[in-house]
Order: sequence, then structure tokens, then C-alpha cells
Amino acid sequence: MMDDLRDLYQQVILDHNKNPRNFRVMDAADVTQEGYNPLCGDHYTFYVKLDGDVISDVSFEGSGCAISKASSSVMSALLKGKTKAEAEKLFTLFHDVVTGAVSPEEHLEELGKLAAFAGVCEFPARVKCATLAWHTMHEALEGSGAPVSTE
Ligand code: ZN
Repeated sequence: MMDDLRDLYQQVILDHNKNPRNFRVMDAADVTQEGYNPLCGDHYTFYVKLDGDVISDVSFEGSGCAISKASSSVMSALLKGKTKAEAEKLFTLFHDVVTGAVSPEEHLEELGKLAAFAGVCEFPARVKCATLAWHTMHEALEGSGAPVSTE
């Protein structure tokens, strides 16, 4: 991993774990979706407000490790104002980066702070912590509403 990404990792995880963005229950959410990573004990509920095809608001609450909380926080900030299709595209890109299928250096602009999570591909057990929020959001936008489990 590049030193720049390692610094970004430290900075983003620390900041968003200590001070998670959009960390609240949302009243009158259009979608409420639960996500659970039994391997680590990460457990969150995500709330989405939709304006047609646009994600107008995202929030979450729950508890888990620093990586899962920081990932949820970064995702919530990033998805506001995006369309469902844009969210799905980012989900795919993020998944490819944290599983090591795609090099983050080639997508730094699209990834923004998400690039910080590229380092977890070195730790397979942590990949589920990083992707839990995204799997849960994917289910919220496209799925049946059944609780998401990474196992
Ligand atoms: Zn975790």
C-alpha cells in the first residue's frame, strides 16, 4: 500500500470512528435496513430517505468495530445526493478495491475518502467490516428488506 493511503487510512478511520457522521435514528425514513457481521459483532441499522431516484438522506445507528463504523460514516456522507445507480456503481468499485480486485491508485478521484479502506484487502477478516455498510445499503435500495448478514 502507498504511504499516502496508509496515512489516509489512519486519518479517516480515527476521525470517523470518533466522530461518526449521520449517526442518528431517522424519523419517517423511506427504507430501514438492518445489517449484521456476526464474525466481528458489527450491527447497524441504516435509514434512507429517497426523493424519486435520488438518495436525499442517509443515517445509521448501532455499534461495531472502528472499521465498520468509519466505513458506515464515510458511506453515509458520500451517498447523500447520489442516485441509486451512482450508489450501486460506487458499491461495486468499493467492493473491488477492498477485495484487491482493483487498484485504488487508478480510481482515487471517484473513491475520495473511500480509498482509505483499500488497505483492508490485506486483512480478509476485516473486509466484511468495511463492506457491511455497503451490503446493507445495496439491500436497502434493491432488496427485499430482509436483514443482511455477512455470513
Ligand atoms: Zn468489524
